[in-house]
Amino acid sequence: MAKVKGDIVIDIEKCKGCELCMDACPQDSLERSKQVNKKGYLYIVKVEDNCTGCTNCALVCPDGVITVYRQTAKNKEQIAKITNVTGDITVTVKE
Ligand code: SF4
Ligand code: SF4
Repeated sequence: MAKVKGDIVIDIEKCKGCELCMDACPQDSLERSKQVNKKGYLYIVKVEDNCTGCTNCALVCPDGVITVYRQTAKNKEQIAKITNVTGDITVTVKE
C-alpha cells in the first residue's frame, strides 16, 4: 500500500507551545519554532514533509488549533479539525 501523504495546518497565533502534539507525532514531523507568537509562546511548526495525516496531533491539542489534511490524487481533503473535546472520543480514518 502506498504511503499516505498528509499535511497539517497549525493556527500558530492560538498555539500555546505545550508540545503535546510534538510528543504525539509518530513521524517526528513537528518541532518548536525559534520564534514566539503574539502571545509569547514558542509555537509548533511542521519541519518534516513526512506527515501521514494520522490525526494524532489534532487529537491531543487541547486548544484544537491543528487541522489535518490528506492528500488525494486530485486534491487536498480536510479530514480532521477537532475542537472543544471534553471527553474520550474515537476517530476512525479511512485508508
Ligand atoms: S497528522 Fe500525524 S503524522 Fe501528521 S503531524 Fe500530526 S501526528 Fe504527525
Ligand atoms: S498541542 Fe496544540 S497548543 Fe500544544 S503545542 Fe501543539 S498546536 Fe500548540
